[in-house]
Amino acid sequence: MSCLPLRVLKPVFIWRSILAMIELRAHALDLLNAAIFTPACKICDGHTVAFDLVDFNKTGHSSKYPYGVAGIPVQYYKCKDCFFIFTDFFDKFTNEQWVNYIYNEEYYVSVDPEYSG
Ligand SMILES: [Zn+2]
Repeated sequence: MSCLPLRVLKPVFIWRSILAMIELRAHALDLLNAAIFTPACKICDGHTVAFDLVDFNKTGHSSKYPYGVAGIPVQYYKCKDCFFIFTDFFDKFTNEQWVNYIYNEEYYVSVDPEYSG
């Protein structure tokens, strides 16, 4: 088995790649906003646009994905009037679903251990 040399990118290439990703993401969101229904703002009932699409397993933890990627998209919206950002993904979650899929035992161990003391 041979080892391939690591390809080292110059910072300018990394920066251009990041800018390209941001531009492509903005383009995709524009297309998405033109194609989908967006809910009214939960705060002011104003008009919203698609803001971001994140994986269900993304967390506020420093590693972002301590459980890996779930492959389940969660759509976020941004109000054009008051700029509130929200999702309606969890609006119909039952108490049982919250306990099973979000605030389960693993959550308090891996994602937010400070919460449980
Ligand atoms: Zn609003």
